[in-house]
Amino acid sequence: MTRFPISRPRRLRLKEHVRDLISDVRLSQDNFILPIFVNDNIRKPIPIDDLEGHNYYPPESPDLTKFLDYALELGVKSFLIFGVPSRKDFYGSEAWSRQGVVQKAIRYIRRELGDSPVIFTDLCLCGYTDHGHCGLPKDIGGSTIIDNDSTLELYGKIAVSHAEAGADFIAPSGMMDGQVKYIRESLDREGFNWVGIMSYSVKFSSSFYGPFRGVMDSSPRHGDRRSYQMDYRNRYEALKEVMMDLEEGADIIMVKPALAYLDIIRMVKEEYPYIPLAAYNVSGEYMMVKVAAKNGVFEESGIIFEVLTSIKRAGADIIISYHAIEAAKILKNMY
Ligand SMILES: [Zn+2]
Repeated sequence: MTRFPISRPRRLRLKEHVRDLISDVRLSQDNFILPIFVNDNIRKPIPIDDLEGHNYYPPESPDLTKFLDYALELGVKSFLIFGVPSRKDFYGSEAWSRQGVVQKAIRYIRRELGDSPVIFTDLCLCGYTDHGHCGLPKDIGGSTIIDNDSTLELYGKIAVSHAEAGADFIAPSGMMDGQVKYIRESLDREGFNWVGIMSYSVKFSSSFYGPFRGVMDSSPRHGDRRSYQMDYRNRYEALKEVMMDLEEGADIIMVKPALAYLDIIRMVKEEYPYIPLAAYNVSGEYMMVKVAAKNGVFEESGIIFEVLTSIKRAGADIIISYHAIEAAKILKNMY
């Protein structure tokens, strides 16, 4: 027996406008971050084979700003910039070069579009090192480890170079211990105390990153990333990682990937409801939708909207997604 005479839930589902009226989880363009790939080896936009519907852009090209302008018009106002450098080396030194691909792109965007785009920059070494690891390999007694603390020094330099170029938020994705604290101190020391940090706090070692590694040519040449990314068999460790990042000064926290990790998103949001939480709807999740839709498995716009809504319903405030433009068009009834 219920206390209320609610016997016909269908009354509230009868009309579209009533369904709209009572829906309590709504997507908005305001909450999307669109990943952008700038590539120092090209002179015109080139489609990215591994990420259908996306392009590499030269860092200083009107094509780049034209595309961002288009996104802004659709209401997508935040961007996460990844760079493909012209050369790689052991230390990944292009990552903090003033003439690096990301630094050039940010300055160009600021010059052409001003203050309005919110620029997040991915901070890692894997796209810049010839070995493809997120940190510096070091031989210890015959085996190779990724050395945490020497890597942090490089992360600090990258963060400052991104801030100097005009980034709003630095997004460290390398999963080194203490990276948020080191980056925060590096930024503050150079006078960038207004530049924020969105930390990839809970980043699982995942097969869903497959397409992205092709995009960035960033697969490790030896070994894998399980010594620094999280083991997906662990649940509560996510709370430990988030707590540490918050204590180190993260402004926004993130769970990555999203779709197979909705339980983690929910748990983190319930534990830290007052901290903005981002979820990264990663390349493998995106391509599953693309490939299935192309094969007629389901209708594309419907599945995109359902996937993104589920991520928001789980508790994400911000959704980083390759579907951001498509979703914005759906929201504007243009898709
Ligand atoms: Zn990395």
